[in-house]
Amino acid sequence: MSERKPPISWDTTIFFLVLNLAAVTLVPWWGITQGYSGWAWAGFFGLFALTGLGITVGYHRLWAHRSFKARLPLRIVLAVFGGMALQNSIYNWAARHRVHHRHVDDVEHDPHSIKSGFWHAHMGWMVRRWPASEADYSKVPDLPHDPVVMWQHRYYWSLVWISNIGIPLALGFLVGDPIGMLLLAGVLRLAASQHFTFFINSLAHTWGKRPYSEENTAVDNGLIALLTWGEGYHNYHHAFQNDYRNGVRWWQYDPSKWVIRLCAWLGLAHDLRRTPNFKIQRARLDLQFRKLRERAEKGNVPPTWRETLEQEYQHFKDTVTEWQQLQMRRVEAGKTAVRDRWVGTELRTSFKELDYRLKMQRLRLRALLAAFSG
Ligand SMILES: [Zn+2]
Ligand SMILES: [Zn+2]
Repeated sequence: MSERKPPISWDTTIFFLVLNLAAVTLVPWWGITQGYSGWAWAGFFGLFALTGLGITVGYHRLWAHRSFKARLPLRIVLAVFGGMALQNSIYNWAARHRVHHRHVDDVEHDPHSIKSGFWHAHMGWMVRRWPASEADYSKVPDLPHDPVVMWQHRYYWSLVWISNIGIPLALGFLVGDPIGMLLLAGVLRLAASQHFTFFINSLAHTWGKRPYSEENTAVDNGLIALLTWGEGYHNYHHAFQNDYRNGVRWWQYDPSKWVIRLCAWLGLAHDLRRTPNFKIQRARLDLQFRKLRERAEKGNVPPTWRETLEQEYQHFKDTVTEWQQLQMRRVEAGKTAVRDRWVGTELRTSFKELDYRLKMQRLRLRALLAAFSG
């Protein structure tokens, strides 16, 4: 960060102050003195889910990363509820987010680089007019082709006011608790949903493991995933940003991925992009080998251990080469593979075999590590 700090963005700062102060004073005060109806809590949780998913499924995975395609009704719903989270329009958000991926950790260019500190990555980057947070529309040349994105960009502020005040008030009058609904489903929901998204920029670049890549600060953390609709598997996400999943294992808590799959099942989404399993395993093994070989180089390990490790590494490289050749064969086979069932099946089984080989290798590597540590 440069020595001279840019000027404070007063409108944003005052807004954050008022919203967060109201959330920690007005909201509990009303709860203690008047109490909240069950309906107000239901409104809070319902709108909390919709705004959160609007950001993760819509802003992030659909528009910033194009990890799937969505039909018009779904795009409208995502644009409205994502906008309700008050994190700027899709057009601005996606432009900044793509820059974050391209220049991750770079203090000059990453809009919310964690290298400038936890607070900067969480909110600080928005309260001053940092040059890196200017939206660069050249990064999102595809988005103007989506009329929903442009409509939302144009009417963003009307949408923000109508949705954040209008929806809670309307719901409140419907159930006879307008102030309660406005405070819980409006104020508290907005403040909470903002912080939970900001955690992805701060916590998910600080606290967790890096199984897929150590080239940047992004980490995987199941606890953060619980708070962020599945976006806590951030190390995976930075390694494979075009995958519609962040929690790639079936058991990993990633509601955004389940919602996308549900939408696909309902015919509202299609062309879901997945990283081939082989590539995912290759990244993990590659990292493990790098660490183990570094350790072997430092000495202090039995020669047999080092030999076995080198054999395994050679084996790994051979498997990767075979996979690349198979990929080329698949491209060459092109349409004939679809027509010729035998070729298609043969390619598929070969890919499965290579997947299996990597899986077994990971088990052996684990045993090797245990043998050495134990
Ligand atoms: Zn990130
Ligand atoms: Zn991303």
